[in-house]
This record gives sequence, C-alpha cells and structure tokens, in this order.
Amino acid sequence: MSTQSAIESTDVLAHIDGEWIAGPEQKPNINPADTREIIGMSAHCGRKEAVAAIEAAARALPAWRETPAPKRGNILFEAVRLMKERAEVLAMAMCREEGKTLHEARGEVQKSIIALEFNAGEGRRPTGQVVPSEMGRTFAYHVRQPLGVVSIITPWNFPVAIPTWKIAPALVAGNTVVFKPASVTPLTGRLVAQCFIDAGLPRGVLNFVPGGGGTVGDELVGNRTVRGVSFTGSNEIGMGLARQALETRKKCQCEMGGKNPMVILADADIELAVDATLQGAFGSTGQRCTATSRVIVDRSVYAEVVERLAAGAKAIKVGNGLDPTVKMGPSVDKGQHNTVLDYIQVAHADGAKLVAGGGRPQGEGLEHGFFTEPTVFADCHMGMRITQEEVFGPILAVVPVDGFDAALEAANGVAFGLSASVYTRDLVLAQRFTDAIEVGIVHVNNPTVGGEAQLPFGGMKETGVGQREMGTFGVDFFSEVKAVYVDYTAAARRTNIY
Ligand code: NAP
Repeated sequence: MSTQSAIESTDVLAHIDGEWIAGPEQKPNINPADTREIIGMSAHCGRKEAVAAIEAAARALPAWRETPAPKRGNILFEAVRLMKERAEVLAMAMCREEGKTLHEARGEVQKSIIALEFNAGEGRRPTGQVVPSEMGRTFAYHVRQPLGVVSIITPWNFPVAIPTWKIAPALVAGNTVVFKPASVTPLTGRLVAQCFIDAGLPRGVLNFVPGGGGTVGDELVGNRTVRGVSFTGSNEIGMGLARQALETRKKCQCEMGGKNPMVILADADIELAVDATLQGAFGSTGQRCTATSRVIVDRSVYAEVVERLAAGAKAIKVGNGLDPTVKMGPSVDKGQHNTVLDYIQVAHADGAKLVAGGGRPQGEGLEHGFFTEPTVFADCHMGMRITQEEVFGPILAVVPVDGFDAALEAANGVAFGLSASVYTRDLVLAQRFTDAIEVGIVHVNNPTVGGEAQLPFGGMKETGVGQREMGTFGVDFFSEVKAVYVDYTAAARRTNIY
C-alpha cells in the first residue's frame, strides 16, 4: 500500500518492531454521532502482542539512546511537517471516531503540532547543569538520561493531543516507546503514531498496540522491562495502575479526573464570564479533563448569570460534528452517554433546579447518536453529587455563594485539583485566588480549559500522581537524572566529604 493510501485508510493496523500487522482480532470502529456508520475495522491486540512490542522496544533502545539528541529532535521536526500535511485527515478522523466538531478537531490538531514543535526543539536544549563542587579541581554536574522502554496509555477525549504530548518528549529524551490508545479511538491513535514512524524513526523505537486496557494496558504497566508509564484517564484505572507501577518499580505519571470550577465574582464582566463558562462546560461535549463543571457565582449577580447561562445553553446546536453549523457533538459511546443521562436523574433527585436541557435532543438523525442537550442545573450546593463527582458530559452545576471567601471555599471543596478560573476586575482578589486555589492550572478572566505547550499541565489532590506533563516537565518525567563528580587531576586529596 502506498503511504498516501495507508494514511487515508480508516482501518487500523498495529505497528510492532517496524511492521504493520493485523493483530489477532478485528473490531468495528463506530461513529458515535451515527451508530449506523462503521468507520473501519481495527486491530485489537492482546497480551502476546504487547510483550512483542516491549521486547522490540528493548532491542531498539541501545542505538536510540546513543543517537545524538539533536538528531532525535530532527526526526520530530519531520513529524511536525507530516502532522501539518495530514492535519485535515487527522481532524476528520477525530470527528468521525470521537464525535468532536470539525472546528474543535482542527484546534486539537493545531495544539498537537505546537506540542510536537516544542519537544522537537528540546533535542538542542540543555540536558543538565554544571555546578561548583566543594572539592577542589572537581568538575561536578548533573545530566538527564533516558529511562529506557516506556509505556504510554491514553484516553479517548484528546486522542491526538495527549498521545502527541507524551510520545514526543519520551522520544526526544532517548526512550523507546510502546503506545496503547483508548479502545474507542484507535484510528486517530494510528494516525498519530504514523506521523512519528513515517518521519524516520528506526525500527522498534515506537510501537503502536491497540487493544484492551485489561490485557495490553495491564502488560504495559506490569512488565518489568518497562521503566516508566505515562497514563491519562480515570481515577478508577489510574490509581490501580499507579500501585502496580510502584510494585514493579517503575516511574509513573497519572493525570486523572477533574471537577473544575469557574468563579464569577460580583464585579466580573458578566457577558465575558458567561461566554467562558458556556465554552468550558459544553466545548467538546463537556468531555475535557479541564471542562467547567461547576460555576460558583456571587449572589449579587446570580439571577442574571443563571438567566444568561440557560439562554446560552439552549442556543447551542447539537449534532454530527461534520455539519459546520453544529456546535456540540455526541458523547463518545453508549457507556459515557448512559453516565450523563444517569447524572441528570441524580441531580433532580438531589434537588437541583433544571434551567436548560435535561434530556436527549429531538431532530432528524439525532436518534442514531449519543446526544444530550446542553444541561444547566441551578441552585446547587456543594453537598450534591453533581457538584462533587466528575460527569464528563455536557452538564453544568450553578452554585450561589456570598462573597469571595465562600466562593474560594466552594471552589476548593472537592477531591480533584486540575483547573480553575476566576472572573473579576479586582487585582487583589484575583491574586488571592491564584494563591489559594488548589489546582495545577489557574486562569484569571479566561475559561478553565486550555493549556499551552511551554507550560506544565496537570493537577494536584486526586487529579495527579507523579510529575506534570508538557513544557520542560515532559522531558524531565521521561528522564533519569545522574549526578557526576570528576576529579580532573586524578591525584587530588579528597576533602570535605560529608
Ligand atoms: P480510562 O477508562 O481510565 O482509560 C484510559 C486508558 O487506560 C485507556 O487507554 C484504557 O484502555 C486504559 N486502561 C483501562 N484499564 C486499564 C488497566 N487495567 N491497565 C492499564 N490501562 C488500562 O479513561 P477514559 O474513559 O479513556 O478517559 C476519561 C478520563 O480521563 C476522565 O476521567 C478524564 O478526566 C481523564 N482525563 C484526564 C486528563 C488530565 O490531564 N488530567 C486529560 C484527559 C482526560 P481501554 O480504552 O481499552 O479501556
């Protein structure tokens, strides 16, 4: 098959030890906006293929880690070029496989290209630091070295960006990689892997193994040849995985759930704050780890905010993301859709007041997809499940509070700590908020969503285990650090040893 037809194919092969293979089983890949459409068939690998991929990565490691970092970076720059060239194929695949709107999918590809560019540049940046030694005539420094074989396990909600921002730093740091995408997004996973592979990676340096979490994923975490695991996904899976990684002595990074608050203070620009809240709550169908799922509003502006939010939510057109007039797509699959519909019942039962949405939208073709109306519940309080648990769907809980301190307490009153935002014109309150809010990413007068490639990404509390991702933190995670002392006289007496 020519490279072009291999890119345009919607079937998915695994890539192990430099070969594209069909795998032991094939599964249909279904469009969540129209379940009558089978996009293509995907290889579904098992433990045997996972082991083969790990062994291939181990064989490829010595040569790859010896490859000069600038040369590794140059291969990533070629991957940047390919991702730019294939951007529309990637975006279309994401729409059909994950349900994003085309606009959102194009944005995600752009974000991935930037993350890839940043990491390609890491091939020419410092890998350590020279420091003065207390011992005379001693050259002392520390240096980063690759971990070895690493596993990358990703969710379906950013099926291009998350694999890209993990694979790129792993490779430029000199590791060899086994990548498992989420089972519902194998096609975008394959297209990402293909940009790296076609850029000229040597055989076995990047292996792509679509397959189940309990089999392929479990092997990628438990196998003792693997020295590091980078995971993004749910708390339920991530915490088990972190324990397993610790038991098998590997470095581990888990980025997990969120329950992100938008705080609207009395002096906020209400129009901007409401726009940002709608964007954060319903963009990507609420299926972002940084989605706004709670909006905490000062009581003096509460009625106006609720009215505007309800009107804004009702105006969002729901449907197949390939239709350019559509602003919100479906949930990714039946399981996620059922979770969303269940939480609507939970919110009703807990006494929240429905002001927009609350069910499945009606309209031609919508009956074949996993659609929910953009839903807003008002009069919520922090004792409700809808304000505490991650839904991962288009449901927004509005919580009234009296003043800044009550808003901050509500914002911090959850187990998660990924992102948060405050809308205010008061510099002092904005600064107090950024100081005291318990999250890894905080915005002032901006939506809760988003993150730039040169800044760290990730959360505190139950959201995150291990080091942050992105920025220079990406390469740091995928590195061991070694302290080196060189007595360059080879004769000096050692003094001041503690
Ligand atoms: P998930 O169910 O936890 O799955 C994530 C990945 O783990 C998938 O590839 C999955 O494979 C795999 N997996 C499942 N069981 C495994 C096991 N026993 N061992 C190893 N791997 C296993 O999460 P999801 O539903 O795909 O994603 C949604 C979640 O991701 C949400 O909670 C969201 O907040 C979180 N998320 C967090 C961030 C962040 O940066 N904090 C970013 C994006 C998403 P299968 O698909 O085959 O089950």
